[in-house]
Amino acid sequence: MAEPTHCGSDDIDDEGFCEDCGEEVQKVFSEHKAESQFDDFLQEAYGTIEVCGMTMDAGIVLKECDNTAYREAFNNWTDAEKIEVN
Ligand SMILES: [Zn+2]
Repeated sequence: MAEPTHCGSDDIDDEGFCEDCGEEVQKVFSEHKAESQFDDFLQEAYGTIEVCGMTMDAGIVLKECDNTAYREAFNNWTDAEKIEVN
C-alpha cells in the first residue's frame, strides 16, 4: 500500500501539513469553526469600519448586509484554504 497515512494528530500547520508526520491533511472544519476562522480572516484583512459613528467589524457588516456575498466569499476562501466544511 503506497497510500500515505496520516498519524492522526490534530497538529496541522497553516499549509495543511501534519506537524508530526508531515503528511498533507485536508482541513476538515465544522461549519461553525470554518465560519469563525473566516471571520478572523476578514477581521485581519479588513479590520473595522465606521458606520454612523459606530465602529463595526467589516466582516460582520458584510454578513448582515449582504449574506449572499458573504457566503460566496466564504466558499472562495474555503476552496483557497483547502478547507472541507462538514
Ligand atoms: Zn500526521
